[in-house]
Amino acid sequence: MPVALVTGASKGIGAACALALAEAGHDVGIGFANDAEGAESTAQAVRNLGCRAVVHQADVSDEDEAAGLVSAVEDALGPLDALILNAGITRDGPALRMGAADWGAVIDTNLSGAFYTVRPALRGMLRRRTGSIVAISSVVGLSGNIGQANYSAAKAGMIGMVKSLAREAAPRGVRVNAVAPGYITTDMTAGIPEQFREQILEHTPLGRFGTPDDVAAAVRFLCSEDAGFMTGAVLSVDGGMAIGA
Ligand code: NAD
Repeated sequence: MPVALVTGASKGIGAACALALAEAGHDVGIGFANDAEGAESTAQAVRNLGCRAVVHQADVSDEDEAAGLVSAVEDALGPLDALILNAGITRDGPALRMGAADWGAVIDTNLSGAFYTVRPALRGMLRRRTGSIVAISSVVGLSGNIGQANYSAAKAGMIGMVKSLAREAAPRGVRVNAVAPGYITTDMTAGIPEQFREQILEHTPLGRFGTPDDVAAAVRFLCSEDAGFMTGAVLSVDGGMAIGA
C-alpha cells in the first residue's frame, strides 16, 4: 500500500486529506501539534477504511521535530509516497500593528514548517525516484489580504518554494504542487465576523464557502497518477474567487 503523511491532520482540511488518501488506498501518518484526541479520531477513521494509521506529535516549526515526524512515520508505515504540507496558523492584524511575534509565528509555522518537513521527505523520494508532495497554500497567497500580511507572505512563499522544488525534483520523477483554497469552513475561519462572511460570499462566484472535502478531493487528485504530468502547479479550490488573479 502507498504511504502518505499529512501534517496538522487532527481536524479540518488535514483530517479530510487523511481520509481522502485512505479512500484512495494509502496508509496514513497523522501529524499533530496538540490535539492528540483529534489525531486519534482521524487515525481511527483511516483504520475503518481498512488502511493503517499512525499518529505522531510534532511542532513543524522546529526543524528537529519536523524531521522526527517524517522518520517516525516512515519507520512505522514505510517510505513516503505522498506528503501533504497542511499545518498552519493565523495571527491576523493590520500590518502597522502586527508585532514581530505574530509575524514570526506565522512565517515559522506555515512556511519554515513546510520547508523543515519537506526536506527529509524529499531526500527519500528523490532516492526512490517517486513521490508526490502537495502544499496547502491559500487564495490570499495569490491576492494578498487586509490584515494578513504575515499569512499572505507565508502562503505566497509556499508557492515559490513549491515551484522551486518542482524544478529540482522533476528529473527524478517527484512531483510537487500546491493547492490554493479559498474560504473553507473549519476552525480557522469560524471566528470571521458575519459582515466579512457576507463580503467573502459576494466575491465567491459559486456563492458558498468550501468544505474540507472540496480541498481534499484536489489533494487526492494531485497525489494520483491522473495528475502524473502535473508539477509546479497551483490548483485553486476557491469557488472562483481567484478568477483573474
Ligand atoms: P485548522 O486550524 O482546523 O487546522 C490547522 C492544523 O494545523 C491543526 O491541526 C493544527 O494543530 C495544525 N498546526 C498548527 N500549528 C502547527 C505546528 N506548529 N505544528 C504542527 N501542526 C500545527 O485549519 P484548516 O482550515 O484546516 O487549515 C489547514 C491548512 O489550510 C492551513 O495551512 C491553512 O492555512 C490552510 N488554508 C485554510 C483555509 C480556510 O479557509 N480554512 C483557506 C486556505 C488555506
